[in-house]
Amino acid sequence: MSIHQSPISPGLSWYEATVGPRAEYAPLDGDLTVDVAIVGGGFTGLSAAAHLARTGVNVAVIEAHRFGDGASGRNGGQLGTGQRAWAEELEEELGFTRAKALFDLAEEAKAHLIDFAAINGIEIDYRPGQMSVVHKKRYLDDYRRHAGIMRERFAYPHLSFMDADETAQRLGSDRYFGGVRDTGTGHIHPLKLVMGTARVAGEAGALLFENTRATGIASQGGRVRIATARGTITAQKCLVATNAYGGGLEPTSAAHVMPIGSFIGATQPLGEDSPVLPGGEAVDDSRFVVRYFRKSPDGRLLFGGREIYAPGEDQAIETHIRRQIVELYPSLKDVEITHAWGGYVGITMPRKPFVREVMPNVIAAAGYSGHGVMLANFIGKLYAETVNGNRDRLKLFEELKIPPFPGGRLLRPALMFLALNWYALRDRI
Ligand SMILES: Cc1cc2nc3c(=O)[nH]c(=O)nc-3n(C[C@H](O)[C@H](O)[C@H](O)COP(=O)(O)OP(=O)(O)OC[C@H]3O[C@@H](n4cnc5c(N)ncnc54)[C@H](O)[C@@H]3O)c2cc1C
Repeated sequence: MSIHQSPISPGLSWYEATVGPRAEYAPLDGDLTVDVAIVGGGFTGLSAAAHLARTGVNVAVIEAHRFGDGASGRNGGQLGTGQRAWAEELEEELGFTRAKALFDLAEEAKAHLIDFAAINGIEIDYRPGQMSVVHKKRYLDDYRRHAGIMRERFAYPHLSFMDADETAQRLGSDRYFGGVRDTGTGHIHPLKLVMGTARVAGEAGALLFENTRATGIASQGGRVRIATARGTITAQKCLVATNAYGGGLEPTSAAHVMPIGSFIGATQPLGEDSPVLPGGEAVDDSRFVVRYFRKSPDGRLLFGGREIYAPGEDQAIETHIRRQIVELYPSLKDVEITHAWGGYVGITMPRKPFVREVMPNVIAAAGYSGHGVMLANFIGKLYAETVNGNRDRLKLFEELKIPPFPGGRLLRPALMFLALNWYALRDRI
């Protein structure tokens, strides 16, 4: 089974274990004609469907597995702030006006996600606070400067610099040199958001099908035709929302978006007197192979980190995750890891989302590069705006320069394997 086709995870995720009763949706059986067809039932596809159906658009979603079985139901749950790249980096590349517009959209995305959940009665277990911490002393000045730029130039008052002492106290670990703390964002239970969004979409009239894989997409004469094993969908427009799981279904996005495996382990509850993350913030670090962790509402440490870049490397998640946990928290050397799972992150070369009209009336949106919890949901909303006649905001993403990965489909995995392992090595020296 190739990395593209794998339903992903060796184990049951803590999210699946705690999401509660998970509604099931029957597969497509027969032919259908709708206004908009959406391929992929994660944040992007389901959010687009909910917003489209609410405005009276006749929309259908097909998902190859269960909703949320891609990255959306199994990620770190961290919302973050802004785009994946820091606002000042975007300013250098795009100028202040575009960088600020992208920052403001991301702020709107964050607020929208929280409002959408609240208005629709979706309990997403939101917890405030996020810290980005520095694993090499030489990065410290960049982080200090970043906090100042965010405050003064991008009018974001919620980010503050932390020295080593404050960082150690807030992490319950002295392994980092400092960092920034963001009180204007937080973390969620992602699968609850997926299931809630599917419910909202269905209640608004969207047609939802699980276990229905698109096997081909063709656009001709103003109509898009999607083939599946047991039926076809004919639509005026189509959104390809398959992210890192699309395989060869749509070659343009496949050339621009690369799947990278990332793994998470959940420990047993650590107990109320645990020194780990006393403030309940989520954390990510400055490594290229980012480590990200947080506590669940029931006091477990959810720790993500190890990445793979080639198929067949996904064994022994627990061993690797435990090693990374113990580096930070030696007292957890015997902690039980109760759940271990993985998923594929869709990355692009410049780590910005890939949003493009890939054939007439077919838009693909993917490659959020580890920053899709809020962005993917919001891009779904912007796609709905586009269908309803306003493309201005989606255009801000469509205009980003995203080159394809080098090497073509055959050589690319080998080249990426070398490149990414080089970066992983650099994290250690
Ligand atoms: C382990 C992990 C940790 C992460 N942590 C974070 C984090 O903390 N913060 C953050 O912002 N982002 C994080 N991400 C990234 C984030 O989860 C994604 O950016 C986001 O979920 C993308 O949503 P999506 O709907 O575009 O794609 P997905 O959720 O991947 O959905 C794509 C769907 O398309 C389906 N599909 C594929 N091919 C077909 C086909 N032919 N026919 C029908 N359906 C098909 C797949 O089965 C899949 O369900 C993480 C990702 C992973 C894997």
